[in-house]
Amino acid sequence: MSRLILVLGDQLSQGLAALKAADKARDVVVMAEVADETGYVPHHPKKIALILAGMRKFAARLREDGWEVRYTELDDTQNAGSICGELLRRAEETGATEVIATEPGEWRLINALRHCPLKVHLLEDDRFIASHAMFDQWAKGRKALRMEYFYREMRRKTGLLMEGDDPAGGQWNFDHDNRKPAPDAVTHRPIWFEPDAVTEDVLDLVEAKFSNSFGKLRPFGFATDRAQAQQALAHFIDHALPRFGDYQDAMLDENRFLYHSLLSGYMNIGLLDPLEICQAVEKAYENGDVPINAAEGFIRQIIGWREYVRGIYFREGPEYPGRNVLKHKRKLPWFYWSAETDMRCVAKAVEQTRDEAYAHHIQRLMVTGNFGLLAGVDPHALHEWYLSVYIDAFEWVEAPNTVGMSQFADGGIIASKPYVSSGNYINKMSDHCKPCAYSVTAKTGENACPFNLLYWHFMDRHRDRFEGNPRMAQMYRTFDRMDPDKRETILREAQDFLDRMEAGERV
Ligand code: FAD
Repeated sequence: MSRLILVLGDQLSQGLAALKAADKARDVVVMAEVADETGYVPHHPKKIALILAGMRKFAARLREDGWEVRYTELDDTQNAGSICGELLRRAEETGATEVIATEPGEWRLINALRHCPLKVHLLEDDRFIASHAMFDQWAKGRKALRMEYFYREMRRKTGLLMEGDDPAGGQWNFDHDNRKPAPDAVTHRPIWFEPDAVTEDVLDLVEAKFSNSFGKLRPFGFATDRAQAQQALAHFIDHALPRFGDYQDAMLDENRFLYHSLLSGYMNIGLLDPLEICQAVEKAYENGDVPINAAEGFIRQIIGWREYVRGIYFREGPEYPGRNVLKHKRKLPWFYWSAETDMRCVAKAVEQTRDEAYAHHIQRLMVTGNFGLLAGVDPHALHEWYLSVYIDAFEWVEAPNTVGMSQFADGGIIASKPYVSSGNYINKMSDHCKPCAYSVTAKTGENACPFNLLYWHFMDRHRDRFEGNPRMAQMYRTFDRMDPDKRETILREAQDFLDRMEAGERV
């Protein structure tokens, strides 16, 4: 009897575990565009389009390879609306009683499959370099789960940038050569793909069904199949990678992408394999085409951060996205959706997010994330926002980055101290501050940069938790050395800012 082979929208890889375990001659692949998945958060229309177009093209490729694929489109009248519902429908059609599935990337769907009244075999997703067992083995007995040490293990495991037992270039990490302030001009542009017929169909569907969602659907230039994603990888390596490290943290008013790869969406839905990307980057380094600080910095993001946050997500369990150790309760300010704020850095990050479904790491961490943390926004509201608005957002990677790294809501599992900064950091790394309505150099007063005021407000209200942290002690000393009147003014003005924001005034 045939079995059903489930392929989800972020599992578009020929080498997927469920496909490897299947028998092409008798098993039936099930793929379904369902309302449960397009609607569990209000996804950016570009994200829905990427996934649906990717799914349709992947299904066509499987058919060309000889698979029988039962594919359900979003507006099919028979559509059951959920993954389990679609499996049940296909089981009835085919007489299958068993399902082979690759572990989904979020607890919500894992639980849905576990409760589906069919025999579902969940296979581990081996598109990741670290298995659950490897991560748990590494984490076991450690007091602190610092990414840097995990990363070294991953370098040894993969052999990437290794010279025997030693790291290439004599160091594990070249970050001291990275993170230069914003350059004056960037000529590089990411690769662009004109939508083909399949993608156009999907764009029309998404336009019709999700026109009220936050985010611009068109123009749409993302890769939607493996061949295009491979072109995007080659384009990045040839044109942007050499300067990736230097300007990794920079932000520019007029350039939204700088030297970033924009590959996360492709990797996260399975069009590119993380190891293949890292090997291509290593090759460019070995050929002398890119400097070590760029190659190492980029590979660290993937075999380090990407694998590490996934390990944390699965190790910490389904409750992790709900953590809130700082007890932040403020609702998400409206300008996260409208970009209507006088804080130019925030407005720029939100506008770009709305237009592109993309912002790079520092915009997510040190602008929208930093502001949310300083203002005491409920981390779960931020989690839902990040999960909705980015093309690459899937809970296994988004939640640890938001709840853990950006909001310190997990109490310091991922970050050894909160990622908070005053306007000074944003000014150093970007050109946003000069034309801003607020003054980044003003520490108090009507036009003082809100990041300056809120920074001390945050430090003051969380003194009990952070004063003893050696990495924050210096800042508390600076605060305590301030003139008491100045301290009081800062805290009063910060509170006034928060009250005005809460009241819905434009800030
Ligand atoms: P590049 O700057 O070119 O980096 C290369 C690759 O490294 C990325 O494609 C990505 O796969 C990986 N990477 C880099 N940093 C991280 C990281 N911290 N965690 C995991 N992988 C990383 N990344 C997602 O893929 N999905 C998310 O939903 C997501 N949400 C985030 C939310 C917050 C609050 C923050 C601070 C970060 C988040 N990130 C997320 C991580 C990171 O911001 C994005 O991976 C990156 O901006 C994607 O753009 P890029 O492909 O141009 O990356």
